[in-house]
Amino acid sequence: MDMKTVVIIGASQAGLRCAQLLARAGAEVEVFEHLRGPEEALPRTLIVTPELARFVPLGSDVPVRNTISGFRVRVDGSCSYVPLAQPDFVLERRDLLAWLAGEAERAGAGIHWGVRLLSVGLEDGEFALLFWDRRTGRYIKRMTSVLVAADGAVSTVLRSLECDGRATVPILQARVRRRQGFDPHVVDTWFAPGRTPYFFWQIPDSEETAAVGFVARDPSSGRREFARFLAESGWEVESVEAARVPLYRPFHRPYRRFGKARLYLVGDAAGHVKVTTVGGTVTGLAGAEAAARAILRGTSYSAELSSLRRELNAHYLVRLAMDRFTAGDYRRLLRCLNHRVLALLRDVPRDRFASVFWKTLLAQPALAFLGAKALLRAARDLPRRSSR
Ligand SMILES: Cc1cc2nc3c(=O)[nH]c(=O)nc-3n(C[C@H](O)[C@H](O)[C@H](O)COP(=O)(O)OP(=O)(O)OC[C@H]3O[C@@H](n4cnc5c(N)ncnc54)[C@H](O)[C@@H]3O)c2cc1C
Repeated sequence: MDMKTVVIIGASQAGLRCAQLLARAGAEVEVFEHLRGPEEALPRTLIVTPELARFVPLGSDVPVRNTISGFRVRVDGSCSYVPLAQPDFVLERRDLLAWLAGEAERAGAGIHWGVRLLSVGLEDGEFALLFWDRRTGRYIKRMTSVLVAADGAVSTVLRSLECDGRATVPILQARVRRRQGFDPHVVDTWFAPGRTPYFFWQIPDSEETAAVGFVARDPSSGRREFARFLAESGWEVESVEAARVPLYRPFHRPYRRFGKARLYLVGDAAGHVKVTTVGGTVTGLAGAEAAARAILRGTSYSAELSSLRRELNAHYLVRLAMDRFTAGDYRRLLRCLNHRVLALLRDVPRDRFASVFWKTLLAQPALAFLGAKALLRAARDLPRRSSR
């Protein structure tokens, strides 16, 4: 391994995990983060599969706010229940960040809180990074030949180096007072293709509160649509977060070489997000581990990412079809959930969906037919879209 300093931009999940693993293996690591500390991050309710336990000790270190025993899926008047054999966990993102930051620092990574990356250029075959320190008002310059971009959906690194090929979607999530009639351990989802290409969700995060959210088509109509949904459902809103989530694309390269200088993209900067649910926590951590391995061993990042890519590709295929689903398709989808499909979805967490992708289609061939019809519609629309 080239023992020069690895510079990581962004001290969120992916950046901190990568920093921890690199520092633990003896690399010099410097992390630069715009926020003054994890406590400055906006509060965010996260729902994660039990796969998170592969990366993070849940319980006393990272408190679990709630456990989820199943999902209720609603389309118009129809409803199905998908139970989970192992419960999902509901966490507060700040708790996760605080633990990851502590671990990275204990491993020896230097974290510069309150320092914003302004631009990245290339000088003498290395990355030249210009920062602004929010606390002192001073500019800082750093050179490195190994740069990890963990700066999220709106990445300064990718923008500066003019290599951002990701698409992003707006997401809105509100913290609401929980209402009577909703099970405190069940996530509710509403599919309404005229209103969102994804779904609305309600995630109970405590006895009193829940996170309600959706993925919008565009920010301005999204705000109106979300306000309408909240009003219709009668939620009492405490706060709202609006952000963007990148969409995984199979052909987006998470690694670039600029002469001798190497750039690794992790987490949202790499688009490591399951596009079925826009969950990026577990997949972001898995990608961060792959980047750390590639840097330490000098192996190909692409090869280290192969199992994550397989997983993300399975979600991508489902998303391609679901993007074309009509309300009728969603109703048919609910009818397709026979006991064999439900057993597969119950037993295998969403972060290991690729392992049951084909089995699910075999368990209910009508699902393959439904997906194929939607993909054909997508293919038929292609010439029309490209001629616009
Ligand atoms: C509202 C919402 C709800 C979500 N819910 C879930 C969920 O329930 N489950 C799930 O698995 N996923 C969820 N996600 C997705 C998940 O939160 C992201 O995939 C995950 O946070 C990505 O982590 P990251 O480390 O890649 O980047 P981010 O969390 O985006 O962090 C990037 C970091 O880089 C820093 N940064 C950015 N620019 C600069 C700069 N120029 N200089 C210095 N620092 C910079 C930022 O301050 C930030 O700390 C949700 C996302 C949103 C927006």
